[in-house]
Amino acid sequence: MNVDDPQSQFYLLEPTGMAGCGLVSYTIDVARKSWLCPRCGAVRHHRPIDVRLDDDPPKQALNFICGTFLGIMSREFRDALGEQLLDRYFHVGSVSFRGTINSADWFTFHGKHKLIVRRVERVIARTCEVCGRCMYYGMGRPHLFPEPPASVEIFHSGIAELVITAAVKERLMSRNWKNLAITKLEIPNRLLDGHQQLGAAGAIR
Ligand SMILES: [Zn+2]
Repeated sequence: MNVDDPQSQFYLLEPTGMAGCGLVSYTIDVARKSWLCPRCGAVRHHRPIDVRLDDDPPKQALNFICGTFLGIMSREFRDALGEQLLDRYFHVGSVSFRGTINSADWFTFHGKHKLIVRRVERVIARTCEVCGRCMYYGMGRPHLFPEPPASVEIFHSGIAELVITAAVKERLMSRNWKNLAITKLEIPNRLLDGHQQLGAAGAIR
């Protein structure tokens, strides 16, 4: 790995102060029987997920639906990504509110490529017994291990967190987003969290 090569640089893009959005209650049971893992909240389907929410999401670029790993993105964020990156890296679904048609301002998303952002303190990694996803929790320095495949520009990590390349960062961060934090991710050359079994990047489902 050449750390000066932009191809090898990855950034964690994450919402700050997330409040989360609530699914309309009767749809939660329906979701648990289809796309939503009832144990860990993972999105189990590899397709767009359409949802109905109680209220408008807080006005921020990235958010999530409470109790799930399904993200919400604003129209502004979607437009900043552009159609090509959206199609390549996300399943994008619709959002509606009680008694309304689909919103033009909000969209659900989940990534086609998943990646664990590893931590260095109090790390717990275990497998969901229902869907098989690796549930990873930790604190401290965020980093990647091993180096992710260079052919992927955007990974979905955690609830509404994205791991993006330097080129995608340049594209997105030309705008002045509120409530978004960006952190450069180290790619150390040795295991720091003790969880060798997680294997190659993208091991989580
Ligand atoms: Zn699960």
